[in-house]
Amino acid sequence: MSAPPSQTFNHLSPLPAHPLAARSLAAVWHPCTQMARAAVVPPLPMARGEGPWLFDVEGRRYFDANSSWWVNLFGHSDPGIHQAIKDQLDRLPHVMLAGCTHEPAVTLAEKLSVLTQGALGHTFFASDGASAVEIALKMSFHSWKNRGQPQKKEFICLRNGYHGETIGALAVTDVAIFRDAYEPLLMQAHWVTSPDSRQAGSEVRALADLRQTLNHRQGHVAAVILEPLVQCAAGMVMHSPDYLRGVRALCDEFEVHLIADEIAVGCGRTGTFFAWEQTHQAGENKRWPDFITLSKGISGGTLPLSLVLSTETVFQSFWSDEVARGFLHSHSYTGNPLACAAANAVLDRFAQADVVAQNQVQAQHLANALGPLVQDARVQHWRQRGMVVAFDVTGQHERFAERFHLAARQHELLIRPIGQTVYVMPPYLIDADIAQFLFEGLTATLNEVVHD
Ligand SMILES: *Cc1c(COP(=O)(O)O)cnc(C)c1O
Repeated sequence: MSAPPSQTFNHLSPLPAHPLAARSLAAVWHPCTQMARAAVVPPLPMARGEGPWLFDVEGRRYFDANSSWWVNLFGHSDPGIHQAIKDQLDRLPHVMLAGCTHEPAVTLAEKLSVLTQGALGHTFFASDGASAVEIALKMSFHSWKNRGQPQKKEFICLRNGYHGETIGALAVTDVAIFRDAYEPLLMQAHWVTSPDSRQAGSEVRALADLRQTLNHRQGHVAAVILEPLVQCAAGMVMHSPDYLRGVRALCDEFEVHLIADEIAVGCGRTGTFFAWEQTHQAGENKRWPDFITLSKGISGGTLPLSLVLSTETVFQSFWSDEVARGFLHSHSYTGNPLACAAANAVLDRFAQADVVAQNQVQAQHLANALGPLVQDARVQHWRQRGMVVAFDVTGQHERFAERFHLAARQHELLIRPIGQTVYVMPPYLIDADIAQFLFEGLTATLNEVVHD
């Protein structure tokens, strides 16, 4: 394939494309990619993965520092997860979940119910994160409608929030580069100030703004949707559990649902299985969101799977003699047994190996090794929440993310900054040596890309 020479990108001469990358550019429309740009910076042809490492077709290795878009938990080619998928493959790779059921889906839903102490005991299955968000939005609205409040049809979302890119999910997403082109197609949502640990007082302002919006739209709001503890796609923007407790209280006061989108932050990423658990305090009744969405890590980075967990109250609002009061949503691969088997293997790992406790040790390795970057003049707002570490690079640097990504490859690091935010969100396979390797790779890359 010969791509037309690019006018816009001519400051960088095209990197040589491996034959597989050239075929890919001709036939595969890559996600989240300006394809003209991909002709200049061709995709890396990957051959295999092992633990935290990816190997390209020429045998070079790269540390998967963002867990292949935040999905991989225990590294690539994890034998336990693979075996669970293989066993299921030989029994029953798929069957529809309407009118039928199967062991992997039932077991998974039961386990998730236990993990929420029964608070969110009903699991609805889908395949991608965005579909889970669509489902939570629809369920929330429909639940109020079934309870005689059809006017509750508006959603409140946070500035810089990200919930996926289908039309409904995009309507509650505030990332301009994904949203702007489709603005005319999107339903109206209400935006409130986002809490941001980098700005003093922002949590108080964010709660005040939320109260004002709930007050202003009283009786019309179905749900507030947010990403608990870390707005990942916004550039690892963090807030405290206190803010979330404040949101829960406001949702109760104004009788609106709270949707916690844990697609990125769930599955142990932030230091507890659900990020939301960090709002729980000893001696208090545990409060939960009305909905939790999960995807990404739940199948350990093997197969597409997403889930919406909901409460007994929500579930009961659909229970009726009338078919149309039911939640009639479906996808062809809803509850796919292979993906559920992978997820069950992931949850078994959490139960058997106390992954959450191990992650606290691993997070400490990251803090110890990467901590010296706090002193680096090119680094500001160094922040960490469990297995997410991020910092912002000072100054303005043209095409920073791309240049950093390309330079890091030379140091065996696969990393994709968001704007000028560099982050690592690695598989849960960090020891002191790996953490030191990350520090050295990041420092060498910074030295090449950002000159003092
Ligand atoms: C990735 C993500 C989504 C969308 O998931 P997809 O599987 O990419 O559709 C939704 N919400 C959050 C918080 C995410 O990080």
